[in-house]
Amino acid sequence: MTRRAIVVGGGIGGLATALALQRIGWQATVLERAPELGEIGAGMSQAPNAMRALAELGVAEQARAAGVPTHSSANLRAPDGRYLQRARPGDASALLAFHRADLHRVLLEALPAGWMRTAAEVTTVRQDVSGMTVECDGMELSAEVVIAADGIRSTVRRQLWPDAPPPRFLGRTAWLGISEVPDLPGSVTLGPGGYFLIHPITRGRAYWAYVTTTDAPGIRYDQEKAEVVRRIGTWHEPIPALIQATPENAVIHIDIHDVEALPTYIRGRVALLGDAAHAMSPDRGQGAGQSIEDAVVLAAALAGEPTVEAALRRYDAERRPRTQSTARGAGKDGRRLTSRAAHRAMVTMLRVVPGPLWRKGIAADGNATWRWQPPHLPSSAPRH
Ligand SMILES: Cc1cc2nc3c(=O)[nH]c(=O)nc-3n(C[C@H](O)[C@H](O)[C@H](O)COP(=O)(O)OP(=O)(O)OC[C@H]3O[C@@H](n4cnc5c(N)ncnc54)[C@H](O)[C@@H]3O)c2cc1C
Repeated sequence: MTRRAIVVGGGIGGLATALALQRIGWQATVLERAPELGEIGAGMSQAPNAMRALAELGVAEQARAAGVPTHSSANLRAPDGRYLQRARPGDASALLAFHRADLHRVLLEALPAGWMRTAAEVTTVRQDVSGMTVECDGMELSAEVVIAADGIRSTVRRQLWPDAPPPRFLGRTAWLGISEVPDLPGSVTLGPGGYFLIHPITRGRAYWAYVTTTDAPGIRYDQEKAEVVRRIGTWHEPIPALIQATPENAVIHIDIHDVEALPTYIRGRVALLGDAAHAMSPDRGQGAGQSIEDAVVLAAALAGEPTVEAALRRYDAERRPRTQSTARGAGKDGRRLTSRAAHRAMVTMLRVVPGPLWRKGIAADGNATWRWQPPHLPSSAPRH
């Protein structure tokens, strides 16, 4: 008998979960509240750990084709343009950069027809003797297990983890944009109190982000682009050019939040996954990557354990330590990268670290987060 799951949320975490379930022979229905899936968001990078998880989902090749190698961690610069560290010509990069919509599309295209339902907002999840029931726009759907991948403001977390605090504001804010500027190598410019990230993405575009501190969430400006220019318009090229090349209405301004460490990601036959479980500060570029890892580990546990309950316990035990320590590290990086007090020491350190040593640390196997190996999924679906 085919085993069935409901996945709440059709972001990167939800789609990765559905694909992972497909690979172990389950069926999944993905319920996504948005009426349609468009060019949402800006850019992101994926590290070797996430690329290995994507390979386990059978979409490594498509993902590589949708991404562009970026040297953002290798090219570290000061606002006047000086290099604190610099990639050498011909260096390989461990990171791939994407337009978020491109990576999302890779996952969506690999999903069996009919698994994704849009304009489907989940309001309630109930457990009864026969399994799980989800209420969604006046309909009821049933399955053996519910995976809540409904993002940082998860409805399922609010309902089933009533004691969990709401997302926590981290005192940082970010402006993001996509510009039609081709062939940039990727870089991070470290200024006092904030940093500017550039990733090359497909079709001759660049993704940029400026992250800095702010006193309170919700502060907005009539002209967001002019505000970024006012703050960092004198930084080295191509920063001013990139900002100017972004249409005003395409500049995204968001405040940075995370989810405080939860004591468990599971309740009965419900599991939280991705940002619903462990939304983190974006400074390590790991949030979506961790959600893809979650998906593979969850499916491996469902395939390997005798009961759903045992599988969810294994998922919780394996994923909580790793995701919560990654989130702690990301929070620390975010504070350090935007701290005026830490700026001078960080720049001094980066100028004296020998180049080969720095480059070793950002090689594919350079850190514990990137070295992660996925469990092997006992595949019942053809690899793409
Ligand atoms: C500025 C910034 C930069 C980032 N950069 C990176 C990066 O470089 N690399 C990286 O790996 N990560 C990065 N991240 C993190 C990454 O964006 C998230 O971790 C990732 O998108 C989480 O995916 P998700 O599927 O868990 O949640 P989401 O992407 O939030 O998806 C949740 C989905 O659930 C839907 N939904 C919500 N409620 C309901 C409901 N009740 N019923 C049905 N559907 C519902 C939503 O519409 C949405 O589609 C960054 C984040 C930010 C803010």
